[in-house]
Amino acid sequence: MSLSPKQEQLFKQANKHIPGGVNSPVRAFNGVGGTPIFIEKAQGAYLYDVDGKRYVDYVGSWGPMILGHAHPAIIETVQKAAQDGLSFGAPTVYETTLADIICEVMPSIEMVRMTNSGTEATMTAIRLARGYTGRDKIVKFEGCYHGHSDSLLVKAGSGMLTLGEPTSKGVPADFAQHTITLPYNDIEAVKACFAKFGQEIAGVIVEPVAGNMNLVKPIPGFLETIREQCDLFKSVFIIDEVMTGFRVALGGAQAHYNVKPDLTTLGKIIGAGLPVGAFGGKREIMECIAPLGGVYQAGTLSGNPLAMRAGIKMFEFLRQPNFYTELNAKMTRLMSGLQKAADEVGLAVKTEQAGGLFGLYFTDQTEISSFDHILKCNVDQFRQFFHGMLQRGINFAPSAFEAGFISIAHSDEDIDFTIQAAQEVFAEIKAQA
Ligand SMILES: *Cc1c(COP(=O)(O)O)cnc(C)c1O
Repeated sequence: MSLSPKQEQLFKQANKHIPGGVNSPVRAFNGVGGTPIFIEKAQGAYLYDVDGKRYVDYVGSWGPMILGHAHPAIIETVQKAAQDGLSFGAPTVYETTLADIICEVMPSIEMVRMTNSGTEATMTAIRLARGYTGRDKIVKFEGCYHGHSDSLLVKAGSGMLTLGEPTSKGVPADFAQHTITLPYNDIEAVKACFAKFGQEIAGVIVEPVAGNMNLVKPIPGFLETIREQCDLFKSVFIIDEVMTGFRVALGGAQAHYNVKPDLTTLGKIIGAGLPVGAFGGKREIMECIAPLGGVYQAGTLSGNPLAMRAGIKMFEFLRQPNFYTELNAKMTRLMSGLQKAADEVGLAVKTEQAGGLFGLYFTDQTEISSFDHILKCNVDQFRQFFHGMLQRGINFAPSAFEAGFISIAHSDEDIDFTIQAAQEVFAEIKAQA
């Protein structure tokens, strides 16, 4: 896959002072080969690279861009907000408004604290669970990614899988030993774990639809069992909706699957593309956070006025009556089209969708419900697919372990263009299989 001389030159320059030329490892092309494309600008469903080439984008900045890129109303809001000042380090009414909206849209949240990233949100939710219960152990699931804090970088998804390392160097073994990792969707393992360690478990954290190992949906009873065991042992149930929040449904995956967590972590969509995270939940637990309680958490730029105002504007669109119906319809058009295209050339491909989130698997397995199923998918075929599509002006995440994202700005024409290209690429892959 040869890039334009300009792209190659830019990537070489980037590598001089930036490790790997990227500021987040998922952007590197380690999982697919080649070098990342440099983006100049974006609009609606499209990215434009520095050579002016257009791509229909199914990454959406890894989730936030559910309205499409550079949505005029969001941009206008941010411009206005910027004129009023970038940060005050003091309360604004915008923080109250966004907190009110979040609590209304996600009723399990009674109080919410803003952070600057999803990583900060999950890291603090874990600390809060430990502070509230006075216990150390936490439970997470294989292939789920919850940001890059020490306790959570144990068998994390996507970026780590792509790098081929199950855990990060630099995480003390003493920390990792407090994190118990179980197979996703393994109900018996959850029960057995609580039977053995229940009294020591501060909390369980889970992606309610796993989106960092491609896409894996929860099987019936999985989330319910976690809820039930947490109740039994007075452990804190944390649902990590950084990716799924306001994407799988307006009320998040917790609304779709009708489970009520004690704490929820948020990010991505709530900032509309500006750096934001949040965690919230039961009042009794949230009151343990400083300044009310003894669990410390802070942030110089937290509740940043640009991000708050962008988030408030975002919800105006998300709360319109037909938003998710329309988003789901677009997704169904894309997924059924891709499935049909693969079936027609006889290539073993499976698709899944959850609101504005999708999974695409190069496999003949009939069921995708665990990390092991994902590991059995054909990575070489994915690589071919990725580059074939990129060449045709369609941008998928550069890893077989990432979910896909659609926006409300993707038109039927964009989707049909994608399916048409996929048909050609699937045929190429089939010919070489
Ligand atoms: C992206 C993500 C995070 C981390 O959020 P950042 O803003 O990248 O720190 C945490 N949990 C899940 C489920 C995510 O998808």
